[in-house]
Amino acid sequence: MSVDVLVVGAGISGCVLAERFASVANKRVLVIDRRGHVGGNCYDCLDEAGILIPMYGPHMFHTSYEDVWQYLGRFTQWWPYTHRVKSYVDGMLVPVPVNIETVNRLFGLGMSSEEEMLNWLRDNTQEIKEPKTSEDVALTRVGRALYEKMFKNYTWKQWDRWPSQLDASLLGRIPVRTNFDDGYFSDRYEGVPAQGYTTIFQNMLDHKNITIMLNVDYLTDREALLRDIGQSKALIFTGRIDAFFDYRFGRLQYRSLEFEYETLDMEYFQSNVVINYPNEHRYMRVTEPKRYTGQRHPRTTIIREYPTWEGDPYYPVPSQDNLDTYMLYEQAAKALEKDGIYLIGRLANYKHLNMDQAFKNALDLFARIGG
Ligand SMILES: Cc1cc2nc3c(=O)[nH]c(=O)nc-3n(C[C@H](O)[C@H](O)[C@H](O)COP(=O)(O)OP(=O)(O)OC[C@H]3O[C@@H](n4cnc5c(N)ncnc54)[C@H](O)[C@@H]3O)c2cc1C
Repeated sequence: MSVDVLVVGAGISGCVLAERFASVANKRVLVIDRRGHVGGNCYDCLDEAGILIPMYGPHMFHTSYEDVWQYLGRFTQWWPYTHRVKSYVDGMLVPVPVNIETVNRLFGLGMSSEEEMLNWLRDNTQEIKEPKTSEDVALTRVGRALYEKMFKNYTWKQWDRWPSQLDASLLGRIPVRTNFDDGYFSDRYEGVPAQGYTTIFQNMLDHKNITIMLNVDYLTDREALLRDIGQSKALIFTGRIDAFFDYRFGRLQYRSLEFEYETLDMEYFQSNVVINYPNEHRYMRVTEPKRYTGQRHPRTTIIREYPTWEGDPYYPVPSQDNLDTYMLYEQAAKALEKDGIYLIGRLANYKHLNMDQAFKNALDLFARIGG
């Protein structure tokens, strides 16, 4: 079999490029993935009880990119959905991002207007001219009391470092609402794919020009693979950039998650799709997928997420060391583009990408090289 384009990785980045090359440029495309399924980290499937669960953590789609929304409309219908998150603090469930209700509940207040909330924030936050650490950012945005209750331990769990040890950029601009809005996202479009995420990727790859090979690792099986298919004219690689270059500049650090699934003999387990546990618990959050997929089932499955340094690479750790190392890899990757080799995606770009950003980057790359 000879192919025009070899795509390594059947996640968002790989599937978009495969679909575009096959259907727009009429190229023969081979997609391989080291896992036994398509969809990358967005993969979902039925568990033993027949409940639709995400295999690599809950995924909530939201975007303001018109082109991404239009593109996805070819492969799925959407259920309207507004994501809401609650945090378990001082024995209560309070809205995240922080809004008037969060402050009212945690401090026993009865604020009802934006003006009162702005006054509360003014009285409780600190002015730090140049926030250097994530703790500084939190103190300027929400103040010490909320920081201690909601952000300090959660950040420690997530990154294994105190916010005072982390660069200001990591916590970013903590969103704070000065009204009662409890929607988690503020993008133009938000929804749940009507038949789950995996179906989107299966639909994208369902093209006569596309062949899929699963359980094939490009880096370990490369010789045999290239012997079978010959040299392709273009290679799209969506795996780890440091692994692609055989770690020649050192390893990039990632934080991972362990997912614990439990199926319970009850229709629903908790009152919200996602509940964060910043303080007493070892896990970070508990998700109940049925609450966002809308599936009717007499039983329910929940997922607890435990942060860890072991396991699949999920979250790039944006310390200066890692970013410096990544820049060396990025230069090496750029130099390969003239040979038709492109590295793209959250692992290849060493960046946390929301799904819509991954779709957008892949569509933009095709617009640049697909011609
Ligand atoms: C826990 C978690 C929760 C998330 N929740 C959300 C959310 O709610 N909303 C949102 O917008 N985004 C969310 N995201 C982000 C989302 O998962 C990413 O945007 C998306 O997965 C990026 O797609 P990708 O194709 O770049 O990477 P991936 O999905 O990781 O796909 C890369 C694929 O390449 C394959 N691969 C790697 N190396 C090789 C190799 N050597 N040979 C063969 N195959 C290889 C992998 O097996 C994988 O299938 C979340 C991410 C995580 C980790």
